[in-house]
Amino acid sequence: MIGDKLQQVRTRIVTACTAAGRDPASVRLLAVSKTFDAAAVRAAHAAGQRAFGENYVQEGVAKIEALADLRAELEWHCIGPLQSNKTRVVAEHFDWVHSIDRLKIAERLAEQRPTGLPPLQVCLQVNVDGGANKSGVAPEDALALAQAVAALPRLRLRGLMAIPEPAPDFESQRALFLRAAAVFEQIRAAGIELDTLSLGMSADLEAAVAAGSTMVRVGTAIFGQR
Ligand SMILES: *Cc1c(COP(=O)(O)O)cnc(C)c1O
Repeated sequence: MIGDKLQQVRTRIVTACTAAGRDPASVRLLAVSKTFDAAAVRAAHAAGQRAFGENYVQEGVAKIEALADLRAELEWHCIGPLQSNKTRVVAEHFDWVHSIDRLKIAERLAEQRPTGLPPLQVCLQVNVDGGANKSGVAPEDALALAQAVAALPRLRLRGLMAIPEPAPDFESQRALFLRAAAVFEQIRAAGIELDTLSLGMSADLEAAVAAGSTMVRVGTAIFGQR
């Protein structure tokens, strides 16, 4: 069941890449397992999936621990909003964080990343549609934050993540994703090497791929309704 769903999502990614004239190998699939149990992650692993995303730190760590036997094969991504009091447990357990929106959080993660682990791979979350009560750094502040984060030890800045408001059609979805892509290009033009644009979910991954996404974060289409 999860294996079939995964295959359908992989096919959607390939089709979207073909439509956009892109190499399907340029888009990674992050399976968002929030609210689903460790058995669901195990089933997805058995179907070949390796990268998993979690929103809630406690829940994610419990799953990471329950799947300790697979730890070397799995890549765990923290994609939810991150409070200061949660940074230590994230730095100690996860491989990636997509949701850095201020320097203080990045500084704490750098300080708390155990030296025995590889650098924590990080993305900045950019608020591309401007809602003041949404998380994410404002596009005009993203370059300065990227420069500061790139200079921190024990973190490796990989790119940007965005979660635009749901939009009704492909073109309006793509237009919002292109705002994130433009910030990505601006930061690269300033000489900071980025390779990850984390855009697109179950409902809009095709538009994200058309806008240049290199990592789609898909939950519902793999695991079912939450
Ligand atoms: C839940 C979530 C997803 C997956 O959303 P679906 O619509 O279930 O594919 C992706 N990214 C983030 C940040 C999420 O919180």
